Amino acid sequence: MKKKILTGDRPTGPLHIGHYVGSLENRIKLQDEYDCYFIIADFQVLTDHLRETERTEHLIKHVLLDWLSVGINPEKSTFFIQSRISEIAELTMLFSMMVSLSRLQRNPTVKEEFRRSGLKSISYGFIGYPVSQAADILIIRPDLVPVGEDQLPHVEQTREIARTFNELFSNVFPIPEPLLGTVSRLPGLDGNKMGKSTNNAIFLSDTAEVVRNKIKGAITDPARIRVNDKGHPEICNVFRYHVAFNNPESAEIETKCKKGRLGCIGCKKIVSDRINEFLEPIRIKRAYYEAKPATIKEAIQDGTKKVRLISNETINLVRDAMHFDYKGLFEEEKIAA
Ligand code: SF4
Repeated sequence: MKKKILTGDRPTGPLHIGHYVGSLENRIKLQDEYDCYFIIADFQVLTDHLRETERTEHLIKHVLLDWLSVGINPEKSTFFIQSRISEIAELTMLFSMMVSLSRLQRNPTVKEEFRRSGLKSISYGFIGYPVSQAADILIIRPDLVPVGEDQLPHVEQTREIARTFNELFSNVFPIPEPLLGTVSRLPGLDGNKMGKSTNNAIFLSDTAEVVRNKIKGAITDPARIRVNDKGHPEICNVFRYHVAFNNPESAEIETKCKKGRLGCIGCKKIVSDRINEFLEPIRIKRAYYEAKPATIKEAIQDGTKKVRLISNETINLVRDAMHFDYKGLFEEEKIAA
């Protein structure tokens, strides 16, 4: 039996090369070793994009295309949509009784995400989304959750909820372990965190020309004014892209930059070419899947159906454990798959 893992994305925009380096690359490897479940967390988008629900379906299709075009394989992995698994909402409600408000208020990731959202006030759903995330995870009773360091508080919260439930009722949930990625994050073109909507990302769906133009505008070492000024690649975003996408040449680039023997324009041209070489097979695969919308539908429909079966099983276990099965009132009723 392969161990089960769950991870996923919010459909808030196209995925970028930072997502690839930070998680997608890892997922492609994981799908051979583990029984992988990938969730599209559409309800979670409501926390900070409540007024943009008309775009959600389009953005879900975009995420699916991104996954398929980088090589996440629905034959090996299971894709599903959060809102199509109603048991997640039931589990969220039950779990919400097991977490104190002060515990949620202390979560550093929620605080940071709220700060970055620019919202004036925090909703009940926003502050409580780690509870909903715990339900997303625990509904399939996984062994592991692949995460970046900033998501560790959420996994810890999920583990706490699973432990609390098991202690209060019965051992329904395994305590999932975090599976930390080894690759650091790529900065955006402006040096800040690369984001879907911060105008500083190179998207997996960008054309070669768009990539070239974006990199032309990337911020580099501000101390380099003249072409032969000595550079500081350790503080340059473009150099981080070399490390990620042009690794064999990165030591030479570093030396040349430090000695003032490579100008930023030439350096950017090299890295644009390497990123475009990396993206080209992804573009070809994207075009293939764009021409086959039935394949995309099948991937998400089959995966969601499979997760519905597991979710029914989980919620029946939860109801039994909590004495909410009411066998004396509804003898025949088990949630039908
Ligand atoms: S030469 Fe390259 S690594 Fe050095 S500062 Fe310019 S863009 Fe950055």
